[in-house]
Amino acid sequence: MLHTQNDTTMTCPCGSNKPFAFCCEPAIEGHKPAKTAEALMRSRYTAFALGAVDYLINTTAEEHRNPDDAELISEQIKVTTWTGLKIVSTENGGSGDDQGTVEFIARFETDDQTGELCEKSNFRKENNHWYYVDGEVEIRNG
Ligand SMILES: [Zn+2]
Repeated sequence: MLHTQNDTTMTCPCGSNKPFAFCCEPAIEGHKPAKTAEALMRSRYTAFALGAVDYLINTTAEEHRNPDDAELISEQIKVTTWTGLKIVSTENGGSGDDQGTVEFIARFETDDQTGELCEKSNFRKENNHWYYVDGEVEIRNG
């Protein structure tokens, strides 16, 4: 499922400084769902960085899934390198909540652009699984 070599000793791409195997991998591999909205957000960033398309679709709220998502996400993953994640703030989204907001900055590079994606994302919990609902996105160059 992951297109990079599955090296469990590598540091997690989400910037937690934890090994991948003890951070986002259990969520992405479906062993252990993310407990908080922030954990889900981190694992989705990591999924973008590693090319885990199915996980990105499965953790999107159902009403926001589209039939061509797999193709669009794969295309986006191919042309974008994610180079860092910073969590700016979180609101609710704890293990006892059923909704939450996470504001973050994700740095990226493409062939002709370096920039930051700044997003305030909304998450919802259903049956103990967090889902990405939608967000306000701003792309900054530089
Ligand atoms: Zn992680």
